[in-house]
Amino acid sequence: MLDYCYHTHTYRCGHAEGTDEEFVQAAIQAGIKTLGFSDHIFLPGVHDPYSRGDYEMLGDYVSSIRALKAKYARDIKIHLGFESEYFPAFDDYYRRLLKDGIVEYLILGHHFLYENGRISFYYGMCKTPNQIKEYADGVVRGMETGLFKYVAHPDLFMAGYRGGRLDPDIHDVIVKICEASKRLDIPLEINLGSMRFRGLFHDGFEMRYLYPYEPFWEIAGEMGCKVLIGVDAHHPNELLGKEYLYAEGLIEKYHLNAIRHIDI
Ligand SMILES: [Zn+2]
Ligand SMILES: [Zn+2]
Repeated sequence: MLDYCYHTHTYRCGHAEGTDEEFVQAAIQAGIKTLGFSDHIFLPGVHDPYSRGDYEMLGDYVSSIRALKAKYARDIKIHLGFESEYFPAFDDYYRRLLKDGIVEYLILGHHFLYENGRISFYYGMCKTPNQIKEYADGVVRGMETGLFKYVAHPDLFMAGYRGGRLDPDIHDVIVKICEASKRLDIPLEINLGSMRFRGLFHDGFEMRYLYPYEPFWEIAGEMGCKVLIGVDAHHPNELLGKEYLYAEGLIEKYHLNAIRHIDI
């Protein structure tokens, strides 16, 4: 049974459903003991309605989750955080969120490139070796800031990229991220999100999920990286799903160094 989840969204991001309280109730029903809310980060001055809530929603998010934390304290441990890219332009903002205790933790979900004052390329649509290398550079840069508790879906770049197991560019990107995970002692998340919205497909080389991308986890196992599972719930019922069994299978198959807890 999966008794923790640090990766949970809310309706505020524009592509999730359910009330905050319904997520808590579903988590309790699923046997989850530690539930972390990590909605897509709201950024001052950024209006990005289907990816993240507006900055003006911050107060409501914080007060809602804090109220649930108190209300359900006897049943479940709740933490308040954000899933966030690392955009250097917002470095001060991330640090202030943590330092002032507005949120308790951040996880690194490097979905987008931010350039010229706006959000642009989506790394789930990488097509070229340069794009996946840029993704890896962005992830490692974020990891090196010390702001993030773990890396969400580090294999996101394989959602769009096609190359097959022996592609040296894919291999380099995987090694680069795993090497940073090991060096900085930052766990990597086996993410269950894409298994629900896409399922298995043939990528021209093999049947697979968008992510988890198995060769990534094979190398993470060889390198001894710490790993954990993230439901990436966008609906309360997703906390009750059984997709985690596939992730547990990867943990066994590749002898992954699985952890079940992060210090917050
Ligand atoms: Zn999302
Ligand atoms: Zn994400």
